[in-house]
Amino acid sequence: MFIFKEGSRNAYNNDRNETVFAKNYQSVFGSVLPHMDTVEDYFRQLPDGLLESNVKQKLVSSLIRNKIFSSGKFQGYYVVAVDATGIASFSEPHCDCCLSKTYKSGKTSYFHNVLEAKLLTPSGFSVSLATEWISNEGKAGYQKQDCEQEAFKRLSIQLKKAFPRLPIIIVADGLYPTAPFFNICIQNGWKFIVTLQDGSLTTLQEDICWEKRFNTGFQREVILTDKNSRTTRKYYCLKGLNYQGIALSWVECSESTRWLKSDQEKRQRFVHLTNLSVDGDLCIGVSNNGRLRQKIENEGLNCQKNQGFALEHKYSRVSFLAMKNYYQCLQIAHLIIQLVEASHTFQAMLNQDSKTTVKHLWKRLLSYLLEKRVIPKELIVLLEKPYQIRLI
Ligand SMILES: [Zn+2]
Repeated sequence: MFIFKEGSRNAYNNDRNETVFAKNYQSVFGSVLPHMDTVEDYFRQLPDGLLESNVKQKLVSSLIRNKIFSSGKFQGYYVVAVDATGIASFSEPHCDCCLSKTYKSGKTSYFHNVLEAKLLTPSGFSVSLATEWISNEGKAGYQKQDCEQEAFKRLSIQLKKAFPRLPIIIVADGLYPTAPFFNICIQNGWKFIVTLQDGSLTTLQEDICWEKRFNTGFQREVILTDKNSRTTRKYYCLKGLNYQGIALSWVECSESTRWLKSDQEKRQRFVHLTNLSVDGDLCIGVSNNGRLRQKIENEGLNCQKNQGFALEHKYSRVSFLAMKNYYQCLQIAHLIIQLVEASHTFQAMLNQDSKTTVKHLWKRLLSYLLEKRVIPKELIVLLEKPYQIRLI
């Protein structure tokens, strides 16, 4: 269902009813197609975390071992963004673990949010390493609802357990710069790049203002031009700051972009705290990797929400456990699809002319499996030859 970006159980069941597709599925994947009602029954019982640890994290570990993502490392560390997103919302309680919010109008909504640790690369990979649901599970008679910061504590334990030796930079938004967050990262041997908002960590902000007054930091300027615009990035960096005994560096990037045609200008400012080295041009990389977090929105979530995966579709209307299992399947499918789409073979088809789209190529693949019988013998011959999938 997720590999073919079908977006609903019904759409997948329709494919399943096609004889050619069912036979092809068996030849290619080596198993019989289950009915989605059977999958639903199974997912309501399959213990939480099994798909994640036994399938997803094993797949990712083998890809990391084979250095598939190593070109995306910065200062020897993998960039891992932490971000929460809404998965489903309901007007009535969906299960007894739902989070809830009551609006001024008196209306209450019930929802499920998830916190993800995703490995990001500048080439566009966005791969789920660990998932933690923000939910009121096991909190019968709870006073306070679960929240992102609490979920991060559990996520960090899970991430360390699944990838104990992986060199990681945690990249997180303005909710995260707190002493407990810094300490979790340091205890796990992780680096971090975290967004600093104007109002937070006031004592540190005062120190930064003081240092800036004496101009103790160092500065860099980068100008980027293309045929439409000219962007100037001014970096300002301070080292050796101290917040509650934690050594930090501060990197500011003031960016202005001017569009040549309209002569309009856009100004943005990005501020990050880090425990990485910021010497010389490294401060530029720190800032850029801090901003790479937006990729989790663009490449990852957007794709999972809008490009056929239907992340927010209610795959299971009654069972929170089934919802979690579907969610892991979606993450696994997204990983496989990203590898397919990054392959030379796929890219060559995509670039054959300027109008071919990714969506069109997936449609062709599905059409082929629906209408044309894959010859099992040919498949065996293909699989017996040594092959390598080359990525861009
Ligand atoms: Zn629920």
